[in-house]
Amino acid sequence: MNANQTDPFGRRVDYLRISVTDRCNERCLYCLPENYQDWLPRHEILTYDELLAIVRATTALGFKRFRVTGGEPLVRPGVVEFIRDLIATEGVESVQLTTNGTRLPELAKPLYEAGLRRINISLDALDPAIYRSITSGEVGPVLAGIREVKTLGFDSVKLNTVLMRGRNDGEIFRLLDFAAEHDVAIRFIELMPVSLTEMLSEENFFPVTELLALLRREDAPEPLNESFGYGPARYFRLPKRGVKVGLIGALSDLHFCERCNKMRLTCDGKLRPCLGNHLETDLKPALRPCLNASHLRQLITGTLGQKPLEHLFRNNYQPDRVMTAIGG
Ligand code: SAM
Repeated sequence: MNANQTDPFGRRVDYLRISVTDRCNERCLYCLPENYQDWLPRHEILTYDELLAIVRATTALGFKRFRVTGGEPLVRPGVVEFIRDLIATEGVESVQLTTNGTRLPELAKPLYEAGLRRINISLDALDPAIYRSITSGEVGPVLAGIREVKTLGFDSVKLNTVLMRGRNDGEIFRLLDFAAEHDVAIRFIELMPVSLTEMLSEENFFPVTELLALLRREDAPEPLNESFGYGPARYFRLPKRGVKVGLIGALSDLHFCERCNKMRLTCDGKLRPCLGNHLETDLKPALRPCLNASHLRQLITGTLGQKPLEHLFRNNYQPDRVMTAIGG
């Protein structure tokens, strides 16, 4: 494999999502089962040095873009320093963070000072009671965190909303207004079968195709060719509201996997070529007891070579790990 390597289907894969922890300070109902206790023991979690060794191995293979996620990445001590080191790593062109935003009021400034400029913040509702019923947390600190990152001048701030019929579909237009008011893009994500809960059902699934039809009744969504992230969202501009909307339709978009450019690293060192597939490679044998760089590269190229053409979400997929353990 060389620095311009593609997967077996010709897709250029240069994007790694790094889960730094499986822990979260919230229990989103689509993400974690109730009373979830099955956290990994601390020694199973890769150290930051091990994560950076993997990053160096991937940049040597042409990876350029990295996202820090979890679990909730901002609950892991030392994550700001890790992000600073990740940004400074040779070959790393873009570093982004996905967070539930609850710790942004205190961490936005240190993250900015560490060099972070791109951030996605999960916001499933504005109404405090609806937000609490979905995430078990409080929306106030998240909204304060969004204002803080805007004040600091992050280059890219996007909101992520997981659509759930009967839960937060009544919040869609308020969320669009909020995004317009704060001059941030908002992405609506279809619920995916990636948690061990029974959350995804015919009743609560809200396809992004339906959302687009709804938006067409209110506005005249203009498709945007430019890509704001490096992910699978299709973007539109709503001229009346003056807001950019991304639609992530893993189930309803039949072309979803055609643009897939990423692999995922779980916090315990498993490299996954696809979110909707059980395939994973344990990278730990190349990291412990000590780093074996060529073995590590071999394991990464081997995993890329297994990247499937499509996810299995439409085939009654049963996840073997909760989303916090895979990293969203
Ligand atoms: N804790 C961070 C957060 O809340 O943004 C990062 C991890 S979270 C797993 C990453 C993203 O995955 C979030 O935007 C979350 O809403 C989304 N997500 C989690 N479970 C999902 C599901 N079942 N279907 C679709 N998106 C999901």
